[in-house]
Amino acid sequence: MGELFVTHLDRERGLWKEQDLLFREAMGASLQWTTLLAALLALMLSVYFARLLSRPLVDMAKAVKEVELGNLARRLPSYSIKEMEELSGSFNSLAAHLQKLESLRKRSTADFSHELRTPLTTLRSYLEAFTDGVLLADKENLKILHEEVMHLSRLVSDLEELSQAECNLLKDQRSDCRQLNISRFLKEKVAFFQPQFQGKDLQLELVLPHQELNARLDPLALGKIIGNLLYNAYKYTPPQGKVTVSLDGDAHGPQERVDQDMFLIEVRDNGIGINGEDLPYIFERFFRADPSRDRSSGGAGIGLALVKELVHACGGDIQVQSELGKGTTFYLYLPKT
Ligand code: ADP
Repeated sequence: MGELFVTHLDRERGLWKEQDLLFREAMGASLQWTTLLAALLALMLSVYFARLLSRPLVDMAKAVKEVELGNLARRLPSYSIKEMEELSGSFNSLAAHLQKLESLRKRSTADFSHELRTPLTTLRSYLEAFTDGVLLADKENLKILHEEVMHLSRLVSDLEELSQAECNLLKDQRSDCRQLNISRFLKEKVAFFQPQFQGKDLQLELVLPHQELNARLDPLALGKIIGNLLYNAYKYTPPQGKVTVSLDGDAHGPQERVDQDMFLIEVRDNGIGINGEDLPYIFERFFRADPSRDRSSGGAGIGLALVKELVHACGGDIQVQSELGKGTTFYLYLPKT
């Protein structure tokens, strides 16, 4: 036999006891609070991260606008997020590059007008003196005038050549390319420059590989490239210095890159060298590392701009390594075919 309890069931409470109900209520309330707190925290975090991400982007958009309007001195601060930091670094170096190019453009206009004004002033004053009878138009004075006229016509033909090369006209003249014995070509070039180098007490050396190297190139363009590089080495190397031209059938230069289709010509000098800050700009038109240099020690800053254009027209590439006071090396990569 057993016992049977009959109890009255409350619709609301069911079989729950008093403390169970209290526990259920407490659990419900705490769950509500936790959910609320979590939602609040999630909202705060998303606002924080959205700000963290959007602030640099807003900064960058503003900075780009400012640069677009001509404020090339605008720079961005560094950011804690790696990707943003990289982006702001790239922006800053781009702005710095643009700023340098802009100042170079302004400086080159001034340099160029100076380059034109100097011979024109000499010509004018000599001609006035001849007309007034103050100076005799003798052989010596006419020779000075002739030198100034030659300087002007050299400048004009340099500019003409450069603009022609920049318009890629030379690229279309592929028909001028022919099979060249590069070893022999360099021997002839070095022999041509030898007396000039000896006159300044400079050693000019040529290092050739055992096997002769042939390539299909435009001899006129190659002659101008080598001529300009050698002339620069001559100008920027003090007496008793050394200049070496070397030829290598495998193109490996400062970046140790090896390209089977290219060969390498190196022009190395132990002259005055180029400042690291100036190095990225030496192939720009009218750029001169030391603007105070006069016409006797430097040119108008066109030579390397022309070299770069000619090298590209030949399907090649040019790189430079230099250290101030130690010397400069130009690496010239050219296609074999
Ligand atoms: P420039 O007619 O003034 O020589 P380039 O275009 O040939 O013009 O060269 C640009 C600048 O690069 C030069 O003014 C010089 O400052 C620097 N440069 C070029 N070659 C050398 C070199 N071998 N050694 C030192 N500086 C050089």
